Amino acid sequence: MSFHSSISLSSRFSELPHSFFTKVTPQPLNNTRWVAWNNTFAAQFGLPEQAPQGDLKLFLAGEMISDEFPSLAMKYAGHQFGVYNPELGDGRGLLLGELANHDGRFFDVHLKGAGLTPYSRMGDGRAVLRSTIREYLCSEAMAGLGIPTTRALGMLTSDTPVYREKMEQGALLIRMSESHIRFGHFEHFFYTNQLAELKLLADKVIEWYWPECLESDKPYVAMFESVVDKTANMIAYWQAYGFAHGVMNTDNMSILGQTFDYGPFGFLDDYEPGYICNHSDYQGRYAFDQQPRIALWNLSALAHALSPLIEKPDLEAVLAKFETKLGGYFSQLMRSKLGLHCKLEQDSQLFQAMFELLHQNRVDYTRFMRELSNLDHRDPQVVVDLFIDRDAAKAWLDLYLARCECETDDDAKPVSEEARCTSMRAVNPKYILRNYLAQLAIEKAEQGDFSEVNALAELLKKPYDEQPDMEHYASLPPEWGKKMEISCSS
Ligand code: AMP
Ligand code: MG
Repeated sequence: MSFHSSISLSSRFSELPHSFFTKVTPQPLNNTRWVAWNNTFAAQFGLPEQAPQGDLKLFLAGEMISDEFPSLAMKYAGHQFGVYNPELGDGRGLLLGELANHDGRFFDVHLKGAGLTPYSRMGDGRAVLRSTIREYLCSEAMAGLGIPTTRALGMLTSDTPVYREKMEQGALLIRMSESHIRFGHFEHFFYTNQLAELKLLADKVIEWYWPECLESDKPYVAMFESVVDKTANMIAYWQAYGFAHGVMNTDNMSILGQTFDYGPFGFLDDYEPGYICNHSDYQGRYAFDQQPRIALWNLSALAHALSPLIEKPDLEAVLAKFETKLGGYFSQLMRSKLGLHCKLEQDSQLFQAMFELLHQNRVDYTRFMRELSNLDHRDPQVVVDLFIDRDAAKAWLDLYLARCECETDDDAKPVSEEARCTSMRAVNPKYILRNYLAQLAIEKAEQGDFSEVNALAELLKKPYDEQPDMEHYASLPPEWGKKMEISCSS
């Protein structure tokens, strides 16, 4: 096919034994058309700036079959809400191949919503426009924030009806990531006792993503250490930026520690540590403040699956580092969000007092951090006014400003308020993807108007910049927006 040479598609995964996947032909949707095309991301792969038509569009929409690059449904398993499920695999997504970016890094091209596969179980193999827009916008919002994530190249809608609680439009997301390997891939080979495949998978993860592990005396231990480290880093970002994933099953955990599989996620509005974004999560297993604990639980499940390759004491020793790593990454992020560069013992108390105050006063987390990044110590009223208990807010601000006084720059000179605030605005977003903003964009898109989706996507590429024409997107959510219930049905 002509476009194959122009986009230099490859597929290392397809060279693995057949126990890793099933070849599946996509089932095209009717009258597909672009909802969004991520031109800046596309440019990194030498892809066209405009949403492509012709062969490339047909290929990306799953409408062109290639013998050279068959599409694959990956086989995996996983723990869902704590229960092992051996039946999982790509139930509605297919791996179309890989593309190299300008740095020579390979990204999987994965088409989500491409139809039935042997792993579809009770599902229909489809994705609806609503959930596709949510994943597109959020993965790009996370990338804009600098949080490790899978990416979105584009999305299409169609005239194919898909039934959820009501009739909806079938849609497609073109998701890209350096890896679609999940913790659940390892669990599958472990629980089916396919130990040669388990080892091969670990060897490929090392070869493709972390070849430096081969320099270690124990490459598999080094590999597991990388997974633990990247996961700790990702969770630190989630906790520091107020992101709740909602479905932290082991099949939704990327081996690379990237935010993966966006479903009923939510960013905190009011600072509410027990926030449950997934309406179907009755026990609050995946509540915001549970994420660090669950990440460790998931890593322990992965450790168990790796036990044929790694001695138990080594697995335990690596797992034991998780909390310290997470704590280290989190403090580093919080210090930079508060404009503090020196590391002081008492900082964690300052953070803790801040979180308690935000919680007690139900203060909007993103708004607070941004206003703190504009703080004028002579007139702190804007920040104080965010709290019901203003005296408590003033008392904390006094502590905070006293702490800021301890800061010095590289030449041992005091750091000015202006310099501190400038650095803070580079890490405390003005704009985040609040659920109500996504919802408004979805409602328009369902009527055939994609302008709001694209405006939001553009805005969220630069969440730290003042964008004067877009000020209204920084508004606090309306009451209905705070109470939105999002379930797994996508
Ligand atoms: P998720 O909760 O989206 O991570 O999905 C869990 C598993 O169910 C994955 O293996 C998906 O591929 C599969 N799945 C989710 N929705 C569907 C669907 N509509 N049709 C087929 N499989 C699905
Ligand atoms: Mg999933």
